[in-house]
Amino acid sequence: MKVTVFGSGYVGLVTGACLAEVGNDVVCMDIDPGKIDLLNGGGVPIHEPGLDVLIKRNRAAGRLRFTTDLDLAVAHGLFQFVAVGTPPDEDGSADLQYVLAVARGIAERITDYRIVVNKSTVPVGTADTVRGAIQAVLAGRQAAVEFDVVSNPEFLKEGAAIEDFMKPDRIVVGTDNPRTTELLRALYAPFNRNHDRLVCMDIRSAELTKYAANAMLATKISFMNELANLAECLGADIEKVRVGIGSDPRIGYHFIYPGCGYGGSCFPKDVKALERTARDVGYAAQLLRAVEDVNERQKLKLYEKVEGYFKGDLGGKTFALWGLAFKPNTDDMREASSRVLMEALWAAGAGVRAFDPVAMAEAGRLYGERADLVLCESPEAALRGADALIIVTEWNMFRSPDFDLIKASLSHPVIFDGRNLYDPVRVKALGLDYYAIGRGDSL
Ligand code: NAD
Repeated sequence: MKVTVFGSGYVGLVTGACLAEVGNDVVCMDIDPGKIDLLNGGGVPIHEPGLDVLIKRNRAAGRLRFTTDLDLAVAHGLFQFVAVGTPPDEDGSADLQYVLAVARGIAERITDYRIVVNKSTVPVGTADTVRGAIQAVLAGRQAAVEFDVVSNPEFLKEGAAIEDFMKPDRIVVGTDNPRTTELLRALYAPFNRNHDRLVCMDIRSAELTKYAANAMLATKISFMNELANLAECLGADIEKVRVGIGSDPRIGYHFIYPGCGYGGSCFPKDVKALERTARDVGYAAQLLRAVEDVNERQKLKLYEKVEGYFKGDLGGKTFALWGLAFKPNTDDMREASSRVLMEALWAAGAGVRAFDPVAMAEAGRLYGERADLVLCESPEAALRGADALIIVTEWNMFRSPDFDLIKASLSHPVIFDGRNLYDPVRVKALGLDYYAIGRGDSL
C-alpha cells in the first residue's frame, strides 16, 4: 500500500520505517531540510535502537523515501499519516499549528480520496477541527474531493519504539466510517497476526484514550514519588514498599519505580494538556493537577538533597552527573530531570561534569559552550575533579560501577542516586555516603 508520513521525528520515522519493513511503499515528508538531507545521506537524526538498520534496509529496497516535497507527499499515499509535534502552548494546551498546517497542505493538493490518519497526540475534538480545516480549503478550491479523518494514536515508547510498533499491545483506531476501519485493518494486518489487537471506537474516544494512557502512567509515577517522600520522613524504604505492593496483581510491579521525576516529550505535556482540556469544559481535574505538581517538585529533589548535604554552599563546587536523557535508550532530553537539576546547580554557582552514553550531542545542542558544563567521554572521566556524584538516568552501564574508583575520585565520597540503582547498605559499607529516593535518609 502507498503511505505518506508527515513528520520525521520519533513517531514519524518509526511509523514510516516499520510500515516499509512489511512491504508498503512509504514516503516520509518533513519541513526540516537538514533532517531530510541527513536521512537521504544515510544518517538518522535520532537515537532509537534498531531504527538505523530498518531505515537502511528499506531505503535500499526502494520502499522508503524522504522528502520535503509536499506535492509528492500528498500525491503519494492513500494513507496520509500525521506524526508532527504537538508541543504545549503557553497555557498548557496542545499547540495544533503543525497538525493544521499538514491538514491544509493536504487539502490544497488532493485530487482524489485520501485517509488522513492522525498519530500525533491531540486533544479531543481535533479530528473535527482537522476535517473542518480541510473542508474549508476544499470549498475555497471549489473541489469536491472525498476524504476521511481517522484518529490512530501512537503508544510506542522511545527506546523500545520498533518493538512496540512491530508487536503492539493494541492498535487504537477511531473512525466514523466502517470503510476506513477496514482499510486500516488491512494496513495493520502484518502487525496484527497473533490475535486481534485492533481496538476500534469512535474518534473522540480514541483521542481521549491516548491521554488517558499517559495520564495513568504519570499518575503511577507521581503516586510512588509521593510515597517515597513520605517514606523518607517516616524512616521507611520505598523499595521494600514497592515490592510489597507490586506483589498484589491488582497493582502489579510495572511502572511503580520511584525516582527524580518523569520527563520526556509526552507525559509532562499530555498531563498538562488533559488538565487544560478539562478546564475548558468546566471540569476541575484535581488529580491531574496534583500529578503534575508532584512531578515538578520531584524534579528538584536531587538538587535539594545536594544542597542539604553541602549546607547550601554549592558555589564553586563541581558535580559529576551520570545520565542526561530523560530515560535510558534514547537521546531525548525534552523535559528531562537532568535539565532541571543542572540549571539549579548552575544558578547556585556550581559546575557539572556530565556523561550520557547517547545524549551528549543533544546536551551540546541545547546548552552550547559554557564554562560550567563539561561533557565527558566516559562515566569515569566525569568523576575526575568532582566533589560528588549525582545519577539521573538509569542506564544499564551505571548499575554496577567501580565504587572504589568513585570514592577515590570524589573530594566528598557521596552519591546522590535519583533512580535507586544501588543497595544502600552495600554502598555505605564501602565508605560512601549514599542518598537515594525514599530510602529512609531524609536530607
Ligand atoms: P518530533 O518533534 O520528534 O518530530 C516532529 C517532526 O515533525 C519534526 O521533525 C518536525 O520538523 C516535523 N514537522 C513539523 N511541522 C511539519 C509539517 N508541517 N510537515 C511535515 N513535518 C513537520 O515529535 P515526536 O516525538 O515524533 O512526536 C510527534 C507526535 O507524536 C506528538 O504529538 C507526540 O505527542 C506524539 N507521540 C510521541 C511519542 C514519543 O515517544 N515521542 C509517543 C507517542 C506519541
